[in-house]
Amino acid sequence: MTIENMKVVAMHYSVSDKNGNELDSSFGAEPLVFIHGTGSLIYGLEQALTGRSAGERFSLEVLAADAYGERHDELTQAVPKAMFEGMDVAAGMRFRAAGDDGREQSVIILDVTDDEVIVDGNHPLAGLDLSFDIEILLVRDATADELAHGHAHGIDGHAGHDH
Ligand SMILES: [Zn+2]
Repeated sequence: MTIENMKVVAMHYSVSDKNGNELDSSFGAEPLVFIHGTGSLIYGLEQALTGRSAGERFSLEVLAADAYGERHDELTQAVPKAMFEGMDVAAGMRFRAAGDDGREQSVIILDVTDDEVIVDGNHPLAGLDLSFDIEILLVRDATADELAHGHAHGIDGHAGHDH
């Protein structure tokens, strides 16, 4: 069976930046299990998986535009520290905030000065060209429950969860 939309895929992956620094990896841990074609992966990776089958291992490069997008400098802002009243803010902290368009976005604090907090709403991997190492473990049909829920229920389709 090859990977196509609405098939469940289990795979191991590792991802590195172009300097070879590993950013994340599932090898030696739980594999990633997902329904293909539902946008649960970045675009460039999803495209590369279509037509693959279990047992294949391959590497690919995904440019930033097909990964987490380019960095947008306007998403880095200095906001008055008073807006964080009562919070113990420090560089490296992450939180969710409503953007100008009302959508929630993940924001990280880059720096804290005496009267300002420098925040960055870019995805941590924005602007990075990424290298993936992929091993396809399994490709199967999605169960009716998985299709109804819009996500995979573990490798065998029967993982328990509450919802
Ligand atoms: Zn579910």
